[in-house]
Amino acid sequence: MVSRYGVKIRKREGKILEKMRARHACPKCGKKSVSRKGTAQWHCKSCNATFTGGAYEPKTQAGNEAERALARVNQ
Ligand SMILES: [Zn+2]
Repeated sequence: MVSRYGVKIRKREGKILEKMRARHACPKCGKKSVSRKGTAQWHCKSCNATFTGGAYEPKTQAGNEAERALARVNQ
């Protein structure tokens, strides 16, 4: 992703990208087999569950925080 923002922001964005690329625990089977399918879409390789959550990670609260942080930056 090409960032239009300053260095400080780019660092924060990098952390968010790191989070959304990481494997996450599945709320259904508990295995760390969940990967990001699209914006706020997640898929578990283990039990084949697809579910929505935060835009950047399945835990909605943290995802919302990340989204708010980016929204602030975009203003
Ligand atoms: Zn699962």
